[in-house]
Amino acid sequence: MNQNLYSLLAAHFPKNPSAPCMILPDGRVWTYGDVERASARMANLIVALGLKPGDRVAAQVEKTSEALVLYLAAIRAGMVFLPLNPAYQRYELEYFLGDANPGLFVCRPQTRALADELAAKAGVPHVLELDDAGRGSLIDAAAPQPDVFATAARSTGDLAAILYTSGTTGRSKGAMLSHGNLAHNAKTLHAYWHFQPGDVLLHMLPTFHVHGLFVACHCVLLNGSAMFFEPKFDAARAMSLLPQSTVMMGVPTYYVRLLLDPGFGRETCRSMRLFVSGSAPLLRETFDEFKARTGHTILERYGMTEGGMFTSNPYAGERRGGTVGFPLPGTALRIVDAGGTAVKPGVVGNIQVKGDNVFVGYWGMPEKTREEFTADGFFKTGDMGSFDADGYVTISGRSKDLVITGGLNVYPKEIEELIDAMPGVVESAVIGLPHPDFGEAVTVVVVRQNNAAGRALTESGIIAAIKDSLANFKVPKWVYLVDELPRNAMGKVQKNILRQQYSPMKTR
Ligand code: AMP
Repeated sequence: MNQNLYSLLAAHFPKNPSAPCMILPDGRVWTYGDVERASARMANLIVALGLKPGDRVAAQVEKTSEALVLYLAAIRAGMVFLPLNPAYQRYELEYFLGDANPGLFVCRPQTRALADELAAKAGVPHVLELDDAGRGSLIDAAAPQPDVFATAARSTGDLAAILYTSGTTGRSKGAMLSHGNLAHNAKTLHAYWHFQPGDVLLHMLPTFHVHGLFVACHCVLLNGSAMFFEPKFDAARAMSLLPQSTVMMGVPTYYVRLLLDPGFGRETCRSMRLFVSGSAPLLRETFDEFKARTGHTILERYGMTEGGMFTSNPYAGERRGGTVGFPLPGTALRIVDAGGTAVKPGVVGNIQVKGDNVFVGYWGMPEKTREEFTADGFFKTGDMGSFDADGYVTISGRSKDLVITGGLNVYPKEIEELIDAMPGVVESAVIGLPHPDFGEAVTVVVVRQNNAAGRALTESGIIAAIKDSLANFKVPKWVYLVDELPRNAMGKVQKNILRQQYSPMKTR
């Protein structure tokens, strides 16, 4: 059987080709028949351009239905899809095009000149355009192509996509994902989260990332059901679409923003059956408030570009706030100390995973790939965490965010949780800054609430409040009060930016 991911998805498309797949903001509907035909035309175009199976198709475009069809066409034609964040500028783009060497680069019209220049430099033979309304030379060139296409034969290990990691340290790496990787995770999540006929997903995530492109879209396509396909998250828009939806996937910030609307509550969520959160830690406060206001318990899950999802809170059982649930079926997850020995429940260690969803390796970096896998084939995620007595996993943060002060390990989350619980605090981020005596000094950046309690916060007050709860070496040496934390498009707090920002201020 053809192991092409598209064949798997298409096998689950509804019998009726006029069933809706994507519902757009202006009310236009893409049926499953439309998706089949448009992806066939685009796949034919890609082949006609001379690309061969395994060649890369890079796209730096806004989220549109046509952009999703481009992804499907690329894998259907046997190519390797390479989505790029539209925020990337010259320096990043030059690296990605040079590194991945695509046979086709699809760009936005406003960056065409730069795309041509960099494509010429990197030897990329074809550049086409797709604008933010889903029009452009890509669509024009595909229009006359036949609207049937025999999906290219691919085996489980053949590559379907390369996703560059956000690369906060050093150069970003291209995670190679195979058809088998993506199919395995798609089937697991579809079953684990109980997707059912008639589900309607509210899709507001970006599609250059694993969360929006794979987790959300694959569940919908495998389910043969519909999604509201929105260009981006917008709380007011979400409020109007939620009463017509059954599932929403989001990063924690989406849920925080929904809760800011006093009108958001049970009535808005009356038709919903599932809210999923991930890509960054969901604050306990958000989890609790969401439950109190809507009656829904957000299901938090954990994963990464290098393998899709690894753990999830249960659909039917207890969803435990502050945890990311259990290892998913088919994913072996272990937590080990620096010597590679499994740690006991409650002890923080390094998270390692193995399974059919775990990526093939980093593009063009065999050495780096070898370093990131253990001798028995587990991938070192770089995340630290622990099991509780019932087997729920809690994430403590990235190992590179671990603060080592006077030779002792400090896990940011432990301190962040204490500070977050203080009156007047929205959230906090603990980082290590260079310190002449301690190596690193525990530093906390605290976001104040815009109210009297927030204004009453002081650096010494924060330290005094937590001093009795923590060993002395964990108590922050420096405290900064701010109005918000820097976040990337996936809602992750960018601690590297905080470290850069506050390092020069450390000599006080
Ligand atoms: P990315 O590859 O961009 O998807 O980022 C993956 C990283 O996001 C993981 O390695 C974790 O550090 C973090 N992450 C993802 N989901 C969660 C979660 N539910 N809680 C805490 N961190 C998470």
